[in-house]
Amino acid sequence: MQIIDGKAVADEIKKEIALEVAEIKASGGKTPHLVAILVGNNGASETYVANKVKSCQELGFNSTLLRFDPSITEAELLAEVQKVNDNDDMDGLIVQLPLPDHINPDKVMETIAPSKDVDGFHPINIGRMAKGLPAYISATPQGVLDLLAYYNIETSGKHCVVVGRSQIVGLPMSILMQRNTKIGNCTVTLTHSKTKDLPAVCASADILIAALGRAEFITAEYVKEGAVVIDVGLTRVEDPTKKSGFALKGDVKFDEVAPKCSFITPVPKGVGPMTIVSLMKNTLLSAKKVIYQ
Ligand code: NAP
Repeated sequence: MQIIDGKAVADEIKKEIALEVAEIKASGGKTPHLVAILVGNNGASETYVANKVKSCQELGFNSTLLRFDPSITEAELLAEVQKVNDNDDMDGLIVQLPLPDHINPDKVMETIAPSKDVDGFHPINIGRMAKGLPAYISATPQGVLDLLAYYNIETSGKHCVVVGRSQIVGLPMSILMQRNTKIGNCTVTLTHSKTKDLPAVCASADILIAALGRAEFITAEYVKEGAVVIDVGLTRVEDPTKKSGFALKGDVKFDEVAPKCSFITPVPKGVGPMTIVSLMKNTLLSAKKVIYQ
């Protein structure tokens, strides 16, 4: 069994990005600029956005954090998104979810210019990804692909089971794993809360990708001997022994599943660090106008 060290892979890719950005700057090119919009002060969202801003600093990107009170109206927020769309210096825009109930996240995502949608959530980017056209691919699924590639994990002809069908993780993951690409060509089963006999379906997977958001839900009975297990889940559970008062748990019960696997991602330091790296890669692509002119 080999543990997939997402932190180490992410650190390596970050170094490559930082080097490229330094070269771009030295030759008078465009410094990548990521903008994050944060509405309200949800604790987890604050942490996610702070980590993204920190990564920008580490890699030599410019970053702008636009914070808004939760009372901001939908129309006002859409106008703020439009301002970023119209600003040629700003290459990428992410709007941290969740948004307050009175704001429709789909409307916000659809207002972001596809050329600045570095989260890859806009229907145009999702559609282009599904067609195999150049597109911003959402960060977490891209991070999973990069980990599979880094560890030379064979995917062609394998049965991949994805647990969870969210727009940001499970659904794009399932589309990507079936594409006719080097990391792809799987026979994919996309499962969700209505799937019958989930343990048996999962236990038929050569590659099991858990993205359901239920701490330690995937136990040994869900996993075939020798399977590759990718744990996307990140759930905060109360833990009085921690200074923060909580611990981060994956969707996989690591201790009992790991001995059955050929490869497994831990939580933390598995998929999580790769997500931010993918976002930075997309922002760099935007600054270089690789996907959209
Ligand atoms: P989400 O929008 O809540 O979607 C969860 C999906 O899991 C839904 O499709 C749901 O099915 C399915 N599901 C829930 N309970 C299930 C069950 N008992 N059996 C089978 N399927 C079940 O979650 P998400 O945004 O995709 O996030 C999933 C997890 O990944 C969360 O823990 C999140 O924090 C984590 N995450 C991590 C990263 C990272 O960087 N590592 C990035 C993004 C998300 P239905 O559709 O039928 O309701």
